[in-house]
Amino acid sequence: MSDLILRNVNKIYPNGVQAVFDFNIDIEHGEFIVLAGPSGCGKSTTLRMIAGLEEISSGDLIINGKRVNDLAPKDRDIAMVFQNYALYAHMTVYQNLAFSLTIRKVDEDEKHRRVMQAAEILGLVPYLNRKPKQLSGGQRQRVAVGRAIVRNPFVFLLDEPLSNLDAKLRGTMRKELMTLHNRLNATFIYVTHDQIEALTLATRIVVMSEGRVQQIATPKEMFDNPENLFVAGFIGTPPMNFCYGRVTKDGYFISKEAFPQATEEYKAMSEEEKDKVDKEFIKNNELAEKALACKVKVSKEKFELLKSQGYINRDIVMAIRPEYVCLEEAKLKENADAIFDCEIELQEMLGSYYLLYTKYMDNNVIAKVDVRDVRGKLGNVKLCFDKDKMHFFDAQTTRRIRPEEYVGIKEEK
Ligand code: ADP
Repeated sequence: MSDLILRNVNKIYPNGVQAVFDFNIDIEHGEFIVLAGPSGCGKSTTLRMIAGLEEISSGDLIINGKRVNDLAPKDRDIAMVFQNYALYAHMTVYQNLAFSLTIRKVDEDEKHRRVMQAAEILGLVPYLNRKPKQLSGGQRQRVAVGRAIVRNPFVFLLDEPLSNLDAKLRGTMRKELMTLHNRLNATFIYVTHDQIEALTLATRIVVMSEGRVQQIATPKEMFDNPENLFVAGFIGTPPMNFCYGRVTKDGYFISKEAFPQATEEYKAMSEEEKDKVDKEFIKNNELAEKALACKVKVSKEKFELLKSQGYINRDIVMAIRPEYVCLEEAKLKENADAIFDCEIELQEMLGSYYLLYTKYMDNNVIAKVDVRDVRGKLGNVKLCFDKDKMHFFDAQTTRRIRPEEYVGIKEEK
């Protein structure tokens, strides 16, 4: 049985703002679920509904087999760690850790045992007599986590707990949280706007945008197979490159400049008519000729997929991660029919790799290349797309083109 279930959960604030739309998830025991997305997408609202700090407008929240929509926060068997720590300034670390047990009238021996256990797990034993202001940011964060641990809850809820720490300390605390999660073998639900935290901590990530779940998947699945352009642009730094265009029936991706606009009238035409209009469009059109000249071949497998789903000659987005826009000889050789000429507008050295900023026609493209492949300042170069690493999305719906989905009209023959 799942530890925690959200079923068709919606949240409409009294002012009419709908912050969460139809949220559904089954969370198993021991999972580390990260709710991720840009500011305002509804992550905190979702967490606060689970905590009982916000009313659920409709839908069901089930914790450990029991519907808890109407239970007070203290009766929900959850503990929450806040971004601002919420420590009591006038109490010592020991008293802060013990506080929730004191108000629950846990007996003294048991209370002491649990406080000491949490302090040991978190390395807080030397600081038990200090007040919060005598602690570093990281130590305060540990006390805030410790206050949740002593409660021994069924589910831990964490709302951007690392956002007040500097970058280096965040890295350290991230590792501590992972160790803690393994050690406690508890269920964690964690909110962040930071996709790196999501990728490193989560067993599953939930990406949200404008109150709606975009995808729920393991970090690897989300990185390798983003469900739509939003997720593709959110997960990974720098994000995927998006190139707008079409794949033609001879298996090439060509940038959008080579095609007339796909108006309703155009869409209604037969293939022959479209061919005619396309040819007419290219005549005396320099930009279109240029786009044709830098067409790139699509792998056989991806071409078959596009064909089977009816996406030949339709507006699509070819997306590719910067890691797979390549400069090195071996890759250029391997992808000889997916090479394009370009000018490097900016190159950034980031230790072991460079980020090269360029354009594929009008599409901004970033390449992430090994320092060993870059000699001095680059000007005009040849880059290639690694054909096996291209992703394709429907330009209109922004959804990933998947084999199991049939969208649009299948090509004849
Ligand atoms: P996130 O945590 O992803 O930054 P929130 O869950 O805090 O997003 O907010 C989601 C949306 O709900 C936002 O548009 C925000 O302005 C709105 N919102 C949050 N709290 C309230 C509130 N108490 N009353 C009205 N609207 C709110």
